[in-house]
Formats: sequence, C-alpha cells, structure tokens
Amino acid sequence: MSADFRLIILDTAVFLQGASFSRKDIDVAVPEEVITEVKSRVPKLRLEQLIAQGSLQIRGATKTGIEEAKQFAEETGDLQNLSSADIGVIALACEQKKLGIEPIVYTGDYSIQNVLKSQGVKFKSIANDGIKQTIKWVFKCEACESKFKKQPEGNTCPDCGTVGMIKRIPSK
Ligand SMILES: [Zn+2]
Repeated sequence: MSADFRLIILDTAVFLQGASFSRKDIDVAVPEEVITEVKSRVPKLRLEQLIAQGSLQIRGATKTGIEEAKQFAEETGDLQNLSSADIGVIALACEQKKLGIEPIVYTGDYSIQNVLKSQGVKFKSIANDGIKQTIKWVFKCEACESKFKKQPEGNTCPDCGTVGMIKRIPSK
C-alpha cells in the first residue's frame, strides 16, 4: 500500500475471513462496534491478541460522525444492509478524512464500499467468492433475541414489536 495512507481501518469481515495484518509503518484501527460484532471464538481471539500486542487500536467515531455516516448510507440506499459495526467503520473513516488523516478501509462488504466511494474515502476490497459464501447474515432483535433471515419490515420485530432494535449479524 502506498505511503499516502496514514491509517488502515478494518471491518468485521476482515476478521471473520481470517486476514492477518502486521504493519509497523501505519496505524491499524477498528471501531468498538466491530469488536462487539465479532463473536466467533477464533476471530475474537485473534482480534484480542492484536489489541494486546498493540498492533490494533480501537478508535470510535463521534455521535455526530455516526449520524452523518447513517445519512451517507441512506443517500446511497445502503443503510438497510449495514450493521452498526459497518456504520462505525464508515463513520470512523469519514471523520478521520475530515481531520486530514487519509484512511484506507479494508472491507469485504459491498455496501460499505459503496458508501465510502460516495464520500471519496479509499478502500481495499478483500471481497472474494470465499467471503460471499462463508459469511451469512441474519437479523437479530436486540430486545428479545429473535433471529430473522430477512430484515423485518419497518425495522419492527415481528416477535416482540420493538422498533429499531434489529441488528444485522453474522449467522455463525
Ligand atoms: Zn424482538
């Protein structure tokens, strides 16, 4: 990667896919939401190890940054396909760019790529057929924990009726 970039931001798919990183010249960061979203044991251990080694920083976006990122995603029509971790990645990248720090996002998610593109943020696609086959997403109601294959209409949980608590998570 060219030295123009001063920060690499990783999305959840990078960890689920098992990509490994060792960069000494550039900071590597993930938003807090990605840590929360990675639930499988092995990727989680790898994530924790990288943090313990100091190879990976946890950086969050501001509330305003998150709201802006949602707006950007709404404009490109990708909001429905993005988890809160995905939004966190977009928000962090856009905010860093605003601060004059040129980030590059390593991502396996087409919707993330789409939104980043609309904001002129650089990304490196780690997407391949393998990812498309291995990552399956489900929608989970954070209020009652019910899971759904499709996003419930109006973001309302059909089981408990809670609105706005549906989150997209990897099914495994
Ligand atoms: Zn529910």
